[in-house]
Amino acid sequence: SSEKSSKIGSRIRVFVRLRPMSKKEKEGVSRCCVRIVNRRDVYVTEFANENDYLRLNRLRGRHFTFDASFPESATQQEVYSTTTSELVEAVLQGRNGSVFCYGATGAGKTYTMLGTVENPGVMVLAIKDIFNKIRHRSCDGNHAVQLSYLEVYNETVRDLLSPGRPLVLREDKQGIVAAGLTQYRAYSTDEVMALLQQGNQNRTTEPTRANETSSRSHAILQVSVEYRVRDAAMNIINRVGKLSLIDLAGSERALATDQRTLRSLEGASINRSLLALSSCINALVDGKKHIPYRNSKLTQLLKDSLGGTCNTVMIANTSPSNLSFGETQNTLHWADRAKEI
Ligand code: ADP
Ligand code: MG
Repeated sequence: SSEKSSKIGSRIRVFVRLRPMSKKEKEGVSRCCVRIVNRRDVYVTEFANENDYLRLNRLRGRHFTFDASFPESATQQEVYSTTTSELVEAVLQGRNGSVFCYGATGAGKTYTMLGTVENPGVMVLAIKDIFNKIRHRSCDGNHAVQLSYLEVYNETVRDLLSPGRPLVLREDKQGIVAAGLTQYRAYSTDEVMALLQQGNQNRTTEPTRANETSSRSHAILQVSVEYRVRDAAMNIINRVGKLSLIDLAGSERALATDQRTLRSLEGASINRSLLALSSCINALVDGKKHIPYRNSKLTQLLKDSLGGTCNTVMIANTSPSNLSFGETQNTLHWADRAKEI
């Protein structure tokens, strides 16, 4: 059908990453309730109350399957190669793509996206890969790699590379842009990790927890690769591809899988951007013609990187602990639905 053909190229690939048990979870009365088998199948088990020793057996179990699932032992490189390297290839061909990490606060989103100096995450590995691929290209021409890194917090957009006043979104020839956003011209991978770490430090923190990034902050790194070359007739050919890497706000209580839940959450106005993203994904899942990009800053900024012919990747991060059972089930349920696009 025509509806089906219009979806070609816009499929969302969905992955799950389980983080290791934290020290705190190990010390507490915490059991592992998520198991990953064959790098694909995810089994979630709900346990009876830990204090009720006589009923300490399994209650309900659920099974999910995704494009790939990463157990706690998976490396950053493995996560990058499986989820994102394909998108980098497409970006170098002039197409757009986006990778989202979502899940509850503490589930491992920032670790997956940014990582640490010793274990850099998807953002850094993608940029490294882009530079490697450009270097190994045999063609002539010029490549320019530019980075922007911004935050959406309470529907306010801020430049993470040059903190200051909120940025205004404007519609221009290229689409919707944040006016005045720093476009950092990068020449090598080495400079990037420090830059992104600093940017991450600039994210909004809750007044009560000055050193912790607010669970309501979304961070968007956009890497654009411009390729300029002259063809046989000496005309300049200009090709731009853009990769968006998004460390979403904590999804606790905010992921709706149906319209009714969505409406009740909208009433509570938990996180407009997360809800709007969820609406857009739902509309894409349902094959709707109208995708409500305009409903939030996040979805406006990502309008050219979501749906259509763009490649989209979702990485659902989860904790293994049964203390997070509810959040994990929610996250996996939503991931399962996004798979249908
Ligand atoms: P989120 O951004 O989803 O709130 P974080 O990425 O900050 O969560 O992760 C919470 C904690 O767990 C951090 O201390 C982080 O270093 C650690 N962590 C998360 N994922 C992993 C992983 N795959 N391997 C090792 N440590 C991890
Ligand atoms: Mg985080």
